[in-house]
Amino acid sequence: MKAWTLLFDIDGTIMTSAHAGTSAMAVTAKELFGVEEIAPLNVHGRCDRGILAELFQGLGVSYEQHHEEFSRRYYQNLPASLIENQGRLLPGVRSLLETLHNEDNIALGILTGNLRQAAEIKLQHLGVDQFFSFGGYGDQFADRNDVAQQAVDSAKNRVGDKFSSDRVWVIGDTTNDIRCARSIGAKVLAVETGGGSPEELSSAKPDLLLPDLTTCELWLSSLKEV
Ligand SMILES: [Mg+2]
Repeated sequence: MKAWTLLFDIDGTIMTSAHAGTSAMAVTAKELFGVEEIAPLNVHGRCDRGILAELFQGLGVSYEQHHEEFSRRYYQNLPASLIENQGRLLPGVRSLLETLHNEDNIALGILTGNLRQAAEIKLQHLGVDQFFSFGGYGDQFADRNDVAQQAVDSAKNRVGDKFSSDRVWVIGDTTNDIRCARSIGAKVLAVETGGGSPEELSSAKPDLLLPDLTTCELWLSSLKEV
């Protein structure tokens, strides 16, 4: 039997982002460039590559010249910011991941705009990193569709012959998650726990829209049936 591949977004889907990422970016910008404040950043459903490019442009500094040093310091600042901003798992997530992880024909991956190392820091902080074995990340791409393709390529490597492009779900909280899922031909479970309003998400026509991940028993049993 072919496996189901489930690609989870992080911020607003697995965890409350609670501005931990942007706070750590602001601290890093202060350390590196001496700025007291950064302009508000729209981060929902976007890739860190694009967010940092916008941040650097606003500060009038070169992305190419500074992004490596900025990222290095950002990774150092992120753990403290997660504690300070009370980054935590959203309702139902741990229980769902434990259940899915125990299923033989389900493979769990990440599909996030976060830089890979930032994603790993967040998942480790929340104690759920052990559930995921592949993913797509926002290091190289500004467009989430490219991240989705990277996640699929990574899933194919990991899942091997059991991978089926007809059996991929993206679980996310923004219309960008829905858009990138469609770009790889995946189904979408959208949750109302993050950056997208119920109306916005509904109008983007996900396959399933839920208030949060505490109420996904029917979806879960549908994966086990076929
Ligand atoms: Mg999100």
